[in-house]
Amino acid sequence: MSVSTVTALSLHLLVFIFCAGAGAGAGAPDFPSTSDEESQIERFQQYLRIRTAHPYPNYAGAVSFLSAQARSIGLETLTLEFTPGKPLLLLSWYGSDLSLPSLLLNSHVDSVPAEPSHWIHPPFSAHRDPHGRIYARGAQDDKSIAIQYLEALRHLKARGFSPLRSIHVSLVPDEEIGGADGHAKFVASEQFRRLNIGFVLDEGQASPTDELRVFYADRLPFSLIVNAVGSPGHGSKMYDGSAVENLMECAEAVARFRDSQFDLVKAGIMAGFEVISVNTVYMKAGTPTPTVSYFRRTCFLSFTFITLSLWGAQRSHIHGQEQ
Ligand SMILES: [Zn+2]
Repeated sequence: MSVSTVTALSLHLLVFIFCAGAGAGAGAPDFPSTSDEESQIERFQQYLRIRTAHPYPNYAGAVSFLSAQARSIGLETLTLEFTPGKPLLLLSWYGSDLSLPSLLLNSHVDSVPAEPSHWIHPPFSAHRDPHGRIYARGAQDDKSIAIQYLEALRHLKARGFSPLRSIHVSLVPDEEIGGADGHAKFVASEQFRRLNIGFVLDEGQASPTDELRVFYADRLPFSLIVNAVGSPGHGSKMYDGSAVENLMECAEAVARFRDSQFDLVKAGIMAGFEVISVNTVYMKAGTPTPTVSYFRRTCFLSFTFITLSLWGAQRSHIHGQEQ
């Protein structure tokens, strides 16, 4: 947090200015857009029309578009491909003092799938309604962020700004499916080490207004799989220690904890991102065949088992202290 904070925050301010201007002026009658803002919005829509949703994201199309945008701004481009078919685009604006730690602006190119039948406008049309609302998969998560970076840098270039520190933009694949073939390989690479990153900005929370919040922490995901085992028995008898009973004890404990966290949010004591969220993802149940049963003591006693899968997220402080 100590290095290049000022640079980062001043850039973020420009990002905010761009976003506020574009948002307010996006066709709303009270705030007519300038021609510059219209151009920015048009570039945003072009990016949205490139189908980068899983399971078949068009990374090549997105990298081609973003590279052309970067070159039009005057940024250096480098395409890294740690995994075939999954390019990572790195844009660079070198500062006047290369010995200083640099700033990295990160955004992911991919998005979660879209089911057109559930959309009021086709999810890759980037339809803009008379109120300035743009409908597209990936608009908030995360394509608006990449466009804000690029337009902020375009604005700085046009003003004749010359950075002291180098500014890099990483446009990464596969974030929505874990990032193992994207950012994980990037941060482990020699190319990343050479960038000498001192400060990173990444996506935050979508805002329904023109005000953007700057976060200094992130949520750490975790997953937990609970396998409950228990004795089976004939349907005509009652017996203790069934797998369902054992699983329910666990599920109820999780539910109580979830309620305790959610109650804090509902009471307004804590924000949604400040508590630990836990959600049951799926349950698998049934009596397995003898070939996959658990055996205890003798091979005649098999156990049913049920799997409860949970997914949660916990707040983690990146920099260890609040500022
Ligand atoms: Zn995202």
